[in-house]
Amino acid sequence: PAAERPPAPGPGSGPAAALSPAAGKVPQASAMKRSDPHHQHQRHRDGGEALVSPDGTVTEAPRTVKKQIQFADQKQEFNKRPTKIGRRSLSRSISQSSTDSYSSAASYTDSSDDETSPRDKQQKNSKGSSDFCVKNIKQAEFGRREIEIAEQEMPALMALRKRAQGEKPLAGAKIVGCTHITAQTAVLMETLGALGAQCRWAACNIYSTLNEVAAALAESGFPVFAWKGESEDDFWWCIDRCVNVEGWQPNMILDDGGDLTHWIYKKYPNMFKKIKGIVEESVTGVHRLYQLSKAGKLCVPAMNVNDSVTKQKFDNLYCCRESILDGLKRTTDMMFGGKQVVVCGYGEVGKGCCAALKAMGSIVYVTEIDPICALQACMDGFRLVKLNEVIRQVDIVITCTGNKNVVTREHLDRMKNSCIVCNMGHSNTEIDVASLRTPELTWERVRSQVDHVIWPDGKRIVLLAEGRLLNLSCSTVPTFVLSITATTQALALIELYNAPEGRYKQDVYLLPKKMDEYVASLHLPTFDAHLTELTDEQAKYLGLNKNGPFKPNYYRY
Ligand code: NAD
Repeated sequence: PAAERPPAPGPGSGPAAALSPAAGKVPQASAMKRSDPHHQHQRHRDGGEALVSPDGTVTEAPRTVKKQIQFADQKQEFNKRPTKIGRRSLSRSISQSSTDSYSSAASYTDSSDDETSPRDKQQKNSKGSSDFCVKNIKQAEFGRREIEIAEQEMPALMALRKRAQGEKPLAGAKIVGCTHITAQTAVLMETLGALGAQCRWAACNIYSTLNEVAAALAESGFPVFAWKGESEDDFWWCIDRCVNVEGWQPNMILDDGGDLTHWIYKKYPNMFKKIKGIVEESVTGVHRLYQLSKAGKLCVPAMNVNDSVTKQKFDNLYCCRESILDGLKRTTDMMFGGKQVVVCGYGEVGKGCCAALKAMGSIVYVTEIDPICALQACMDGFRLVKLNEVIRQVDIVITCTGNKNVVTREHLDRMKNSCIVCNMGHSNTEIDVASLRTPELTWERVRSQVDHVIWPDGKRIVLLAEGRLLNLSCSTVPTFVLSITATTQALALIELYNAPEGRYKQDVYLLPKKMDEYVASLHLPTFDAHLTELTDEQAKYLGLNKNGPFKPNYYRY
C-alpha cells in the first residue's frame, strides 16, 4: 500500500535491521533524551539547571542527588498466607499504580466464581506444563477468541510478525513483563514470541487481568502468573515467580508502573548484570526511573515509552475521546445532549473528553491552572472557569489533571442532586473520595462501579469507579490505540536489545523519532491513507532526509 513506507534499506545492521527504521541511522540517543520534557521538568524540580536553546538543545548542569527514591512498602515473604479478609486489607498498602482499577468489559467470568486461590491449585496446560499460575486454565478457549478479536485491530504488530519471518530480532531475548494482562497485551506477547523472545509475565494491576486471556497465554506456553483480584501478597508472589526461576534469567524488562523493576532492584540486583534494558510505559514508572537515574542508581539503559509521541499524542487523546462517553453511558445510561459538564484539566486527556462531550451537544466548561492550556480551551470554544463558579450547576464533573485533591469535600458538598463525579486521570487522588467516608453520609452501591453517596438532606451524588480511572474501570478502550502503544513497546525492546555497545548509557531515553514515525506508518494502511513523498528538491529545500525523521525533536505535534 502506498501509505506504508518501509524502512530504508542500508546501514541498519544486525537482526533488528529488518524491523527498525534503519537502526544505523537512529539519531544520537542523547539528543533524544534531551528533548524530553519530563526529564527537564524533573531536573528543575530538583533544583538543577537546564538551559534550552531555541533549537531545542538542552545543556545540562551537573546532576545533584537531593531526593531519596521512595517506593511503596511491599511484603516480601510468601510463606505466611493471609486469610481472605487479610488479603483484602493487605491490598490497601499496595502501590497506587497497581491498584488503579482496570478491567475490560469483555470478561466471560466473574472472579468470584471459584473461591480457591490459584496459588492453591495444581494446573497443567495441554502440553503438560505447569509453569504458570492463572485462575482457570480451562478458560483458555474463550481467551483465545478475545485474542483473535484484538488481532484484527492491531495491524502493526501483525505486520511486525510477518516481517520477522526468517529474521528474529529478539532471538535470545528473555523478556520479563509486568503489564495489564488483556487481549491486547496477549497480542504483544505473542508478537514478541514470534520475533524470537522468551517471555514470562505478571500483571501490573491486581484487578485488570482478564482471566481467560491469561489462561489462553498459559495454554500456548507462556509462563503467566496473574489473575483478577490478586491480594498484595499474590501480586508480589506473581512477580517473583516470573524472575526467580531456576535456569532462566531475564535480559530485558517490560514494565508498566515500575513495580517489577523495583522488585528486581530490591531482591535480585545481580540480575542487572545480564539485563540489557528496561522499557517502561507509565507516567508513574517513568517518574521512578528518572528518580533512579538522578540518584545514580540506574544501572541499565531505559526507554521512556510514555513520552513517545506515538503514546502520548494517541493513547491519551484518542483513547479518552473514544472511551469517555462509553464509560459514562454504561454506568449511568445518561443522555449527554444539553447537559452541563465541567472537565478539570485541558491536557491531552481533557482535550479528548471535551471534544467527545461537545460533539454530543453537552455544554462544556473547563478548569485549568496553565494559561497556555487555558487559552487553548478558550480558542476551542470552551468556557474557562474556576470549579467553584460552576460546581452548583453542573450535571457531571470529570477530572483529568494527574493532580491530587482537585475535587474536594467542599466541592462535593455543594454539588447538586444527582451530579455525576468521575476521574479520567491515572490515579485515584484527583477526587477526595476519602473525605466522603464520614458517618453522616450513606453509601449505596447501585451497580458495579457505581455508588450513590447520600447526604442527610437526601441529596445524592453519583460516584463512578470510586474515583479511579473511569474508562479503564467501566468501559472498553479502543484496541487500535493500544496497538500503537504496543508497537512502540515492541520497537523499544528491539532497539535496546540490538543497540551496539555504547549507544545507550545508564540513563532514560526517548525512542528515536524515526521509530515513532515508523510506528505511525505501520498503522496508516488501515485507513487506506496515501502518504505524500518528498521530492528530492523539496527534501533539499527543507533540509530533510526523504525517509525521515521529518520533524525536529522539539516539534510538538
Ligand atoms: P497533561 O499533563 O497533558 O494534562 C493535565 C492538565 O491538567 C495540565 O494541562 C495541567 O495544567 C492541568 N492541571 C493540573 N492541575 C490542575 C488543577 N488543579 N486544576 C485544573 N487543571 C489542572 O496530562 P494528560 O496526558 O492529559 O494526562 C492526565 C492524566 O490522565 C494523567 O494522570 C495520565 O496518566 C492520565 N491518563 C489517562 C488515560 C486514560 O485512558 N484514562 C490515558 C492516558 C493518560
